[in-house]
Amino acid sequence: MKTARHYGIGLLLLLLCSPSWGAEVVTLANGLRILTETRNDTPLVAIQMWVRAGSREEQQGEEGSAHFVEHLVFKGTTTRKTGETDLELEQLGGVWKAATGPDYARYETRITQEALENTLALLADFLRNATLPAGEMEKERPVILDELAQHRTQNQNLLLDLFYLAFAPTAYRHSPGGTPDAILSLKRDTLLNFYRRNYAPANCTLVLVGNIEPKQAIAFAAKRFGDWKPASATLPAMPTFPLVASRYFDVAGQTETESLALGYLIPAQPDASQSLPTQWVKQMLQTRLRAKIAPLEAIFQYTPRLGSNFMLITAHARTSRELEVLSQLKSLVLAECEGLVKRPPTKLEIEIARSHLQTEEALERETSLGVASQIGYSALLQIAPQKPETRPTPQDIQKFVQDYLTPEQLFALHLLAKGQQP
Ligand SMILES: [Zn+2]
Repeated sequence: MKTARHYGIGLLLLLLCSPSWGAEVVTLANGLRILTETRNDTPLVAIQMWVRAGSREEQQGEEGSAHFVEHLVFKGTTTRKTGETDLELEQLGGVWKAATGPDYARYETRITQEALENTLALLADFLRNATLPAGEMEKERPVILDELAQHRTQNQNLLLDLFYLAFAPTAYRHSPGGTPDAILSLKRDTLLNFYRRNYAPANCTLVLVGNIEPKQAIAFAAKRFGDWKPASATLPAMPTFPLVASRYFDVAGQTETESLALGYLIPAQPDASQSLPTQWVKQMLQTRLRAKIAPLEAIFQYTPRLGSNFMLITAHARTSRELEVLSQLKSLVLAECEGLVKRPPTKLEIEIARSHLQTEEALERETSLGVASQIGYSALLQIAPQKPETRPTPQDIQKFVQDYLTPEQLFALHLLAKGQQP
C-alpha cells in the first residue's frame, strides 16, 4: 500500500477549537505533552503527533521547509533505511498520514492496541532521528511541486493563500506549501536546520484516542520520548498579529470565477469565556445572511491560530446573479455586523446557533481521529477547554461585534475573473 499524505492548510480544522474535556493530559519532564482519551466503542487507537513546526516557524529563506521536512522524515533515520518506516507500520497494519499547516506538522495513523508500542517506537524514530537524505530530497522535490500545482487549481486555496499575503509582516505571511521558486531553491542544510530547531520535545503534543489503557499508553510513550533532550536553542517568541487599518486588495485571476475573501482578525483569547463568542457570531452571521445572499453560497470559517484568530467569509461567483451578490457581499456583511449590535440575537437565534455548533462538535467527535484532532489542535494552540452547554448572552455577542467586527478591522481580497480589470 502506498503511504498517503496530503497537503493541508489547516482550514479543515476550523471547528476544532473547543474542548479537551475527557482527555487526560500528562507533560513529560522534557516538555512533551501526552493527551489520552479512552473510547470503548472501537478496537483501534488513533495516534496523532502535533509538532509546532508549521510554516509560521519558517524564517527568511526557509519558506516551504515545514512541508518539505514533513515529506522527508519518512525517508530514513539513523537506524532505518529509506522505506523502512513505511514498511514497518504497514506490517503493523497501519499507514502514515501527514499534513502541514501554518501552526503545525501533524503525523497520524490508526492501529490496533497490540501495535501501539511498536508504532510509537517508529514515530519517535523519525521525529528524533530523521536524516533527510539528499537523494530522497531530489526525488521529493517534484512531488511537492506537483502538490502545489494541484493545490492552486482550486480557487478557494488560491484565494486563501493570497489572503495570507495581506499579513506580510507576520508569521502567517505565506502559504504552508511555500512557492514553486522557494521549493526549487531549498537546500538540504536549510531543511536540516529547520528540523533540528523545531522538532523538539517541548514542541510536540502526542494524542492517543481509542482502545487504550491510559497508564500503559503513557508508559509506552515515555519510554520512547522521555529521554529526548530539549532543543538547545530557545524557542522563538510567538509573533502576534498587528491589527492594522482596513485593507482591500484586488488581484488578477486566471479562471472564469470571481472570488472574494472577507476576514476579521481577532486577538487570541486564551480565556474560554472570551473566545466563545467568535464561533457563535460566525454562526449567527451565517444564519442571518444565508437567505439574503442566495444563490451565492458563502463559506463561513473560524480559524483559531497561535497569537490571533481569523473569522473568514469566502465566496465564488460565476452566474450573473451570483456576481451581483458578490459585488454587494462586503456591504451586506458590514450591515449585518452593525445589525447584531443594534438588534442583538434573540433567544431563538441563540438556540439555533447552539444546535448548529453542537452538531459541528458531534461530527468532529464521531471518530477517534476526529477526537484526537480536536483535543490535539486545542492543546497546540493553548486554547482553554470550553463547556459546550455554555451560551453567550446577547450582550456578549453585542460587545464582541462592537470590539472586533468593525469596518476598520475588515480585510478584503477580491480575486478577479480572467481578463477583468480592477
Ligand atoms: Zn505534501
